[in-house]
Amino acid sequence: MTAQRVLIIGAGGVGNVVAHKCVQNEAVFSEVMLASRTKAKADAIAARINSPRLSTAAVDADNVAETVELIRAFKPAIVINVALPYQDLHLMEACLETGVHYLDTANYEPPDVAKFEYSWQWAYQDRFKERGLTAVLGCGFDPGVTGVFTAYAAKHHFDEIHTLDIVDCNAGDHGKAFATNFNPEINIREITQRGRYWENGQWHETDPLSVHRPVTYPEVGPRESYLLFHEELESLVKNFPTLRRARFWMTFSETYITHLRVLENVGMTRIDPVIYEGREIVPLQFLKAVLPEPASLGEGYSGQTSIGCQIRGIKDGQERTYFIHNNCDHAACYRETGAQGVSYTTGVPAMLGAAMVLSGQWGGAGVWNVEQFDPDPFLAQLGEFGLPWVEQVGYPIEFEPA
Ligand code: NDP
Repeated sequence: MTAQRVLIIGAGGVGNVVAHKCVQNEAVFSEVMLASRTKAKADAIAARINSPRLSTAAVDADNVAETVELIRAFKPAIVINVALPYQDLHLMEACLETGVHYLDTANYEPPDVAKFEYSWQWAYQDRFKERGLTAVLGCGFDPGVTGVFTAYAAKHHFDEIHTLDIVDCNAGDHGKAFATNFNPEINIREITQRGRYWENGQWHETDPLSVHRPVTYPEVGPRESYLLFHEELESLVKNFPTLRRARFWMTFSETYITHLRVLENVGMTRIDPVIYEGREIVPLQFLKAVLPEPASLGEGYSGQTSIGCQIRGIKDGQERTYFIHNNCDHAACYRETGAQGVSYTTGVPAMLGAAMVLSGQWGGAGVWNVEQFDPDPFLAQLGEFGLPWVEQVGYPIEFEPA
């Protein structure tokens, strides 16, 4: 296999990790370009990595013509989109125009409605097929590794999977009163939405953060976990139609929830514009401007993340319970890349998914969610690139967030 060029868009917390990991994976990526709206941020990352194989550029990824020009000049084989979900469709257009593969970590959402779903990107299926290009959607940790974990369980441990609980714990402490671990605007839009889960062939809605219970996480212990809608549920119930129930749980501390409630109550999480001193501002965008950047949280961050999939189903006529997870240490991520664990657990799979496509282990013309690919080559390398995983068959039932 000949190593090829990769273009990373977005020099935030995740972009930093993707750049580190692409440079490390020299067998697959010959040259790496990190392009972002604010070039100085890409330059700061490049200065830390300090590799002659890494270059930087300025690009507004909402401007398709500008991105097309950059792609034509650099000639990458794949674009890794770790800017914001708002850029997804523009970058898919630029890839189609230039004949380049595409990968992202979060599905499209329109800036003026807090609603994320795959429909907009799945609609590109025929165009990617006709162009003979691969688009990989949602290849971070969740979505991303959680879909690969589910595919791995279905392939190796079950004849049929029946229930899926994705459990996502950040037991870390960044020492700030309130901060989000990935882009604050996207994060707050996600968790202030109504909850949703799949059961018996349909979606059920819950009030935001109204359903919660303690879940016991490996090496962490019990943590209050909140039922949320998370984007991988949409593709997983479609790709694993035997699933009778699929839910997603995420931990939040009491302090975090209290801050969020206050911000919501005073209107700071609104995404509709208000007039302030004669000009329009969106309160949530203003809030983002005053909160710490995810990329700045790494220093002094202690504790671990712990994310896994609890699956039940049938194997050889017997009920089976299975749990597969990764724990990741914030301080170790910081020592290696200057990033905190949430950026790290997203950036490693994004690099590895792109490596799967360029090495021909994942691919095919069209638009794909990660669980549609063979999980084996991806999981064979995930540990080597920093995210070792552990599986347990017949995992004790008390882990179940019943
Ligand atoms: P950050 O806010 O730290 O970084 C986003 C970067 O994108 C910033 O550098 C920003 O530039 C850049 N950007 C924004 N708009 C444009 C544009 N129009 N053109 C070019 N660059 C642009 O966010 P994170 O790194 O934390 O998150 C990145 C992505 O990863 C998000 O989409 C997030 O949803 C996703 N994510 C996925 C996870 C998963 O597990 N699947 C988990 C965590 C995050 P500037 O600095 O100028 O603002």
